[in-house]
Amino acid sequence: MRKTIIEPFKIKVTEPLVMKSRAEREKVLKYAHYNLFLVKSEDVTFDFLTDSGTTAMSANQWAAMMVADESYAGSRSFHRFKDKVTQIMGYDHIIPTHQGRAAERLLFGMLLKPGMKIPSNNHFDTTRANIEVMGAQAVDLVIPEGRIPENEHPFKGNIDLDRLESFCREFKDKIPVGMLTITNNTGGGQPVSLENIKKAGEIYHKYGIPFILDACRFAENAFFIKTRESAYATESIPSIVREIFDQADGCMMSAKKDGLVNIGGFIALKNSTWVQELRNQLILTEGFPTYGGLAARDLEALAVGLDEVLSEDYLRYRIATSAYMANSLNEMGVPTVKPAGGHAVYIDAARFLPHIPKEQFPGQALATELYLQDGIRTCEIGSVMFKEAATMELVRMAFPRRVYTQSHFDYILEGFQELKARSSELKGYRIKEAPPFLRHFTAKFERV
Ligand SMILES: *Cc1c(COP(=O)(O)O)cnc(C)c1O
Repeated sequence: MRKTIIEPFKIKVTEPLVMKSRAEREKVLKYAHYNLFLVKSEDVTFDFLTDSGTTAMSANQWAAMMVADESYAGSRSFHRFKDKVTQIMGYDHIIPTHQGRAAERLLFGMLLKPGMKIPSNNHFDTTRANIEVMGAQAVDLVIPEGRIPENEHPFKGNIDLDRLESFCREFKDKIPVGMLTITNNTGGGQPVSLENIKKAGEIYHKYGIPFILDACRFAENAFFIKTRESAYATESIPSIVREIFDQADGCMMSAKKDGLVNIGGFIALKNSTWVQELRNQLILTEGFPTYGGLAARDLEALAVGLDEVLSEDYLRYRIATSAYMANSLNEMGVPTVKPAGGHAVYIDAARFLPHIPKEQFPGQALATELYLQDGIRTCEIGSVMFKEAATMELVRMAFPRRVYTQSHFDYILEGFQELKARSSELKGYRIKEAPPFLRHFTAKFERV
């Protein structure tokens, strides 16, 4: 096998990369009060803020959008989308929504009452918020290795089966649904093994609890299973995917990730128990059951994207992207959370900038310097975001799908070499002004 893993596509449409000088970016950042959420994307060269909804669509997806059937009811495009989901996941009842959190709102709005509890490996933040708004509790039961940044466990997204068993035994009457997030986004994009998915499903079902997957990155998770879980080394990606979904009773999906589209989501269910009531609610807030808050062209693009994401060439390239970035950073002495996740690399800013104390936001210092030096937009996940509750000072580089190339990454890595050489000169920040909630989005900073 060759060492170089190539982008398995050629480029038909291009967008210019914004190239600005450091002096220009200094001005931009000052005007944005040193908060990267307040920088306009037209002033960013490499945008690694999120992998959500930032995918580049293929020629086949754009072509499918052109032949979409925008009928209000019974659209041909809905049936194409629905048949594709059924073929891949094996579920018969498909409810489209405009994105993942709308699916969460619908399902939890129907099932949850105050005092109920929902276990998972880790809940994503919108999932947790949609559980808590109903007065219920989101409970994280990831394995202990999943909480240790240096630990190289191959499936750090696994749920702790012993804790899950005793949790279900104790609270079974209060658990209307049990979950697993694949890959585990909050835990760093870490995969869950098929063995763990099976055993979690057995535990939920033993206690009569329906099992619902948060499946945003199901294809990336399936590729990790193929390459890290020996029993599946010779299985095809579609058959691993099917085996994953066979274990559960349904899933919620933000199609903005492994759907390879810019907007979209759905709920897919094995049996019909909840379907009528979900559709009634869907009509109130999202739209008619055959479009659910999306245009038919979005459903067409999604039907094609769900096929494309199962390509092994694509997944090999995709997973190699973040591994290449993380390994190269580690080789030059930039510490990251290990192993690399599927969709992102998390730099350990506390260890990279040991001279900047937590109170002066080392993650913010690194994120702003990456912007000033090379126009890279990342996301601080540390004391700015979580205040005193932060246990780590991380900077996340999340990679849009099919957007940047290896030469972009090599250029960025050269920049990291330069930055590392003068890392001791970086200065911390203090907060000048911040709202009481979700302060990272709008806080204003100044340099210490
Ligand atoms: C993105 C995401 C969601 C929410 O989906 P949106 O489309 O952003 O509303 C839910 N769960 C996980 C694991 C996610 O990554």
